Amino acid sequence: MNISFMLLSAIFILLYNLFVLTIYKKTRIVERINGVEVRVYNSDIVNAYSMFIPFLVKNFIIISTGVLNLSDCEKRAIIMHEYGHIKRGHTIYSFILIFLTVLTTFYLFTEGLVVGAFLITLAIIPFQRYLLRKMELDADKFATKYVGKDVLISLILKYGDEKASIFSTHPSASLRIKAITG
Ligand SMILES: [Zn+2]
Repeated sequence: MNISFMLLSAIFILLYNLFVLTIYKKTRIVERINGVEVRVYNSDIVNAYSMFIPFLVKNFIIISTGVLNLSDCEKRAIIMHEYGHIKRGHTIYSFILIFLTVLTTFYLFTEGLVVGAFLITLAIIPFQRYLLRKMELDADKFATKYVGKDVLISLILKYGDEKASIFSTHPSASLRIKAITG
């Protein structure tokens, strides 16, 4: 029995939950969409996330006050994109992926395989990012069913990333638009 591995894993799971719970507690609810809470935090920067609290088996959406100041249809498009992440299981898949990566790294590390732990992490990151980018395209597609393509395309042009690499969490704006229109 590898006690250090079990201890590190327990600490990681605890900290992860505390981190998401802190964000949850520090935000205030503005609306509910099919039971999913949309919560808001103070920032003029337009940003939105979907999150999963493993301990509570609960998903929620957070948006910045910057999003609240957008037009109704832009706001709806951003929220539906995030809701898509939740409905399509992305928040849970992402958590499982992080969980497995961290636990594998901890295991190899505590078994003395430091180089192995380093290499595994290095190999998994681009793979994880690739999956994240796939999920972005999927959430875009989900949102277009509710808000149409035009508003989403204009949002991507305004706030999307111009370029993407193998380490990017989001595909480039041009790829996202191509996936929506294609
Ligand atoms: Zn997204």
